[in-house]
Amino acid sequence: MYRPPVYMGPPLDYAGYHGNILQASHYAPTGNSSNVPQAVKNWGGFGGYAPTSEVCLPNWPRDWKPSGEDPALNFHLVRFPRSSAASQERMTVQAGIPSHSCAGYAAGSSPGSHWKGSLGFIDTHCHLDLLFSKMSFQGSFKKFTETYSQSFPKEFQGCISDFCDPRTLKDGMWGDLLKEDLVWGAFGCHPHFARYYNESQERNILQALRHPRAVALGEVGLDYSSKCTTPVQQQQKVFERQLQLAVSLNKPLVIHCREADQDLLAIMKRYVPPDYKIHRHCFTGSYLLLEPLLKYFPNMSVGFTAVLTYSSAWETRDALMHIPLDRIVVETDAPYFLPRGIPKSLCQYAHPGLALYTVREIARIKGQPLTQILATLRENTNYIYNI
Ligand SMILES: [Zn+2]
Repeated sequence: MYRPPVYMGPPLDYAGYHGNILQASHYAPTGNSSNVPQAVKNWGGFGGYAPTSEVCLPNWPRDWKPSGEDPALNFHLVRFPRSSAASQERMTVQAGIPSHSCAGYAAGSSPGSHWKGSLGFIDTHCHLDLLFSKMSFQGSFKKFTETYSQSFPKEFQGCISDFCDPRTLKDGMWGDLLKEDLVWGAFGCHPHFARYYNESQERNILQALRHPRAVALGEVGLDYSSKCTTPVQQQQKVFERQLQLAVSLNKPLVIHCREADQDLLAIMKRYVPPDYKIHRHCFTGSYLLLEPLLKYFPNMSVGFTAVLTYSSAWETRDALMHIPLDRIVVETDAPYFLPRGIPKSLCQYAHPGLALYTVREIARIKGQPLTQILATLRENTNYIYNI
C-alpha cells in the first residue's frame, strides 16, 4: 500500500544539532522526570511490552485527572487565553490583500519571524514524501514550487510535512526538506503503520524530532475503519506510547482519528494534559463526534481540508459552522483531496499551495472576508506550532 519515495537525497546533515529538547515538559508529572533516551533504551517492543515494564516516561497514573474543575464539565468551547500580543496582532491586521491569484509564486524567506503583518497561509498538514512519489518528482520543495508556480499563490507561506511511516525516516529525504525555508516537519507513527512499530523506529522518530524545524509529533491516533489493518490493541499501545513521548518532549500533537472517537478521547484523557496544544487533523465527521474532544482540550485546533469543497460534504461544512474560527487551521493532507474544480491539467494531486481554496471555502461558509479568515488561521497556526 505504501510506496517509498523515489526521491533520493544526500545523507542527513543535522547530526551536529543536539538541541536540548529532551527535558521534562511544562507538564511535570509527579515522580521521576522524563528521560526519553532511557525510554528508548527500555522500549521492549510489543513482545516485551507491558504496562508494568520499566520505562522512564512520565508515569503519572493512568486515571490521572486535572486538579480542580474538570474541563469536560465546562461547556464553553473557548481556548485558554492567548498572549495579549497575539490578541493585539489580530486587532491590527489590515484588510486589503489583492484578490486571489493562482499565479506568481513569491519566493520568500522563512515566515517564522516575518509573517506578522503580511496576509498568508501555511498548509499545516501535508505529506511531501508521498506527493513527490506520486508525481515522480525529484528535487527540492523550492524546485517544486517553481515547477508548479501556476498553482502556488503569493499568499503561500510554507507547509508542515508529516512523516508518519517511521520505516522511511532513514532515507534522508526529510532532512533535506527541512533545510528549506518553507518546510517544517512532524514525525510519528500513523496507526496504519503501528503494526511495524518497534524500538529502532521509535529511535528514528525521536532523532527526527530533535531537528530544530520539527514542530510536532504526529500524525498519530486510532483508525478503526476498514482501511487500517493494524489490530486495534496494537494501535492503542502505539498511540499511548507516542502520546507519552510527545508530552515528555513538549511537542504539539497531530491527531488522526477514524471511527474511533470514544476510545481516542478516553486514551488522550489519560495521557495528555487538558491544556495541551493539539491539531485534530483532517476532520470530516459530524460536530457531535468532535464536541467532547474540543471541550476537554481547549487548546485543540481542528484541521479542515479541501473535503469542504466537495458537494457531498455537508456534514463537514456543518461542523465547520459550529467550531469557533479561532480553533480552526487549514491543511491539504496532500497528495490527497484535490480541491473541487481544479483541472487535473493544472495539478494531478493536491499540493500545499492549494490550501487557499479551502481557506476561501471557510470564508464562504463562515460568511466572513477572506482577509479576516487568512489572518485568523495564520494566527491559529502560529499559536499551535509557533511558526
Ligand atoms: Zn495526513
